[in-house]
Amino acid sequence: MPSRIPKPCRKHGCPNTTTAQYGYCEQHKNEGWVQHQRGRTRQQQGYGRAWEILRAKILKRDKYLCQTCLRQGIATEAKAVDHIKAKAFGGTDDETNLQAICHACHKEKTAHER
Ligand SMILES: [Zn+2]
Ligand SMILES: [Zn+2]
Repeated sequence: MPSRIPKPCRKHGCPNTTTAQYGYCEQHKNEGWVQHQRGRTRQQQGYGRAWEILRAKILKRDKYLCQTCLRQGIATEAKAVDHIKAKAFGGTDDETNLQAICHACHKEKTAHER
């Protein structure tokens, strides 16, 4: 059996070598595949799409009603999703930290947080 000669990893700037046919080291073997899907990498489309899905999910969960108004017994159609605890204050994108909110409440809340 002839042993394969290690070649440098195809990932630009990677110091590792590989004997694998696809030309990427252990660390980057998945990355090579990801990069083939042009423009579909993490940050670019990742956040926007994930957020859209999450946003729709929260609106549906809260029945498209503003949760802030609802606490005061008023049913207002929610158009946005709000971070209960603002991200600036350590809030996360977790479903438990998100609520449906109407524009008026959102505006008021944002003004308070400043
Ligand atoms: Zn590599
Ligand atoms: Zn409201």
